Amino acid sequence: MGFFRKKQHARKVFLGSSASGKDSVRVFPLGGIGNVTKNMFVYEYRYDGTLRDILLVDCGVGFPEPDMYGVDLVIPDVRYLEGKKDKIRGLVFTHGHDDHIGGIPYLLPNIGNVPMWGTNLAAAFANIKLREIRSQAKVQPVDFDRILRIGPFTVSFIRMTHSVPDTANLVIRSPIERFTTEAILSLTSIRLTERYPNSGKSMMPDETGCSAF
Ligand SMILES: [Zn+2]
Repeated sequence: MGFFRKKQHARKVFLGSSASGKDSVRVFPLGGIGNVTKNMFVYEYRYDGTLRDILLVDCGVGFPEPDMYGVDLVIPDVRYLEGKKDKIRGLVFTHGHDDHIGGIPYLLPNIGNVPMWGTNLAAAFANIKLREIRSQAKVQPVDFDRILRIGPFTVSFIRMTHSVPDTANLVIRSPIERFTTEAILSLTSIRLTERYPNSGKSMMPDETGCSAF
């Protein structure tokens, strides 16, 4: 199978730091930005300039453009994670579409043996893909009312309307900033804004971005 690793030429980075300047959080995509495929986001926490913890959100595939001869799938460029596996605290899947889970059979070796969670259907679909490659790794299903503590991050799930059941946007709290992923935009986003009235600070104003609030 032919792969094309999506280059991060248009990588956008959100950077926030504490008042003391000691600790900071960065958020950026490994699958590029500006379209709705090969989703994979890095949330990383640094203290005193040293990378401490990485949380990954989604691990999807994209599909080749007409001029990508011999390419079957487009996958995120995970070279950034080389040498950082011991900092990865977990991977969370937002829903079961291939542009959010389809990369896991190919990229698991780059991510390592980390805990993985997903909404119920996303976990089931991802586990089928892992079984197909005879991996022992398992994605743990998560109910929407559960809050995950992953390193310095907490992750909670907001049910969204989408074309596949069990779709979530995530609220990710870091020691510095609070984010909401906007993997899915729908009318239910409005409810989120109502619940968190200061959510107007847009970080990545496109379909696959997220916001700090
Ligand atoms: Zn989707």
